[in-house]
Amino acid sequence: MAYQHIRVPESGDKVTVDAQGKLQVPEHPILLFIEGDGIGADIMRASLRIWDAAVEKAYGGQRKVAWMEVYAGEKAASIYNGDYMPEETFDALREFLIGIKGPLTTPVGGGFRSLNVTLRKVLDLYACIRPVRWYEGVPSPLRHPEEVDVVIFRENTEDVYAGIEFEAGTPENQKIARFLREEMGAEFFEDAGLGVKPVSEFGSKRLIRKAIHYAIERGRKSVTLVHKGNIMKFTEGAFRKWGYELAAEEFPEQTISWDEVAEKHGGKVPEGKLLIQDTIADIMFQKMLLRPSEHDVIATMNLNGDYLSDALAAEVGGVGIAPGANIGDAVALFEATHGTAPKYTNLDRVNPGSLLFSGVMMFEHLGWWEVAQIITRAYEKTIDDKVVTYDFARQMEGAREVKTSEFATAVIENMTV
Ligand code: NAP
Repeated sequence: MAYQHIRVPESGDKVTVDAQGKLQVPEHPILLFIEGDGIGADIMRASLRIWDAAVEKAYGGQRKVAWMEVYAGEKAASIYNGDYMPEETFDALREFLIGIKGPLTTPVGGGFRSLNVTLRKVLDLYACIRPVRWYEGVPSPLRHPEEVDVVIFRENTEDVYAGIEFEAGTPENQKIARFLREEMGAEFFEDAGLGVKPVSEFGSKRLIRKAIHYAIERGRKSVTLVHKGNIMKFTEGAFRKWGYELAAEEFPEQTISWDEVAEKHGGKVPEGKLLIQDTIADIMFQKMLLRPSEHDVIATMNLNGDYLSDALAAEVGGVGIAPGANIGDAVALFEATHGTAPKYTNLDRVNPGSLLFSGVMMFEHLGWWEVAQIITRAYEKTIDDKVVTYDFARQMEGAREVKTSEFATAVIENMTV
């Protein structure tokens, strides 16, 4: 495909998906990056240096990433005559499949939807994946942060986030209210704003299927379905039901439900089986504070997943280092989970950890495990040396505060094979 402002590197090849849906990764894959607004330039520059250094360290030049810049946000607007989300960015992601992005400003006013939401919607990136684990030395409010090691799969397209809302007092609201009262026998206050919470079998199952696949591939122990099915029976309760149904129908050999473990195996999960369990959302927050080691992969709906992701990130270092990805059937977009932190723009001050570890997720997704390990070890050594950016420095005693770029240099110097 011909692009207007995007330059396709000549030295690289496309990542593709085969007939079985398996990713085929060449030695010189073309990977996309969106720099992002605000602190995006600082953290992307630092992370690119670290990713390239780790790939070089791991494969001595045999493998190399051919980076391709694509545009969104303010940088896009300056290149594409005010267009914050150029069509060719979507085309490039559809063609090259794998990308990583810095944070994007949501322009205020003018009827803009969040650019992040737009990207997810247009590319149908239905699974938001957030691994939450502790890295040695990172400040944490928990006594045993090392027990936190979960991966949250949050459904990205449905639930109360679907945007089906009717403002109180509007004719649309009155129409829906009349229908609900007169034809469905619903009762609610006169001046209620109304929203719809769609949760479908299709949407739930494709998310839970991804979570189970991931858990099996990575040798994880359990998948927990997190829901409020005790209250919202036909949405959240149905999500739970569909989850167990899917596991039994599509993964009968690999998975076992909690009921079956209790009834047939005396409460002990048989060796080699992936446990499918469920828990009510509110109690999940308590469990993740008091007994985090009981959970592993988590699959949940949009709103629960939103709250849970940030709450759990706070247990192990906060949004400054929490990585994430939004993934569809083929396209995968890895991203820093924090915003653009505009007051720090171009100060070379902030923590590149969130974007850096989103990159680590990306290399794991590609099967370049050595790169992921080299970066993780070097990062831990750097934190252990108490060489940190301002956000960690203010929580650690005896730390040496460094700039974003200096932190990147320290991580690169600490790399070992
Ligand atoms: P924010 O940009 O995440 O920043 C909030 C605070 O979090 C910062 O002031 C800073 O705390 C801390 N922080 C964020 N990133 C950090 C990093 N890399 N290292 C260290 N500390 C970091 O949230 P916001 O101020 O609410 O949002 C600003 C803009 O970002 C908005 O336009 C919003 O729409 C956008 N946004 C984009 C995304 C995305 O692209 N995925 C996500 C969220 C928000 P201290 O002040 O304590 O130092």
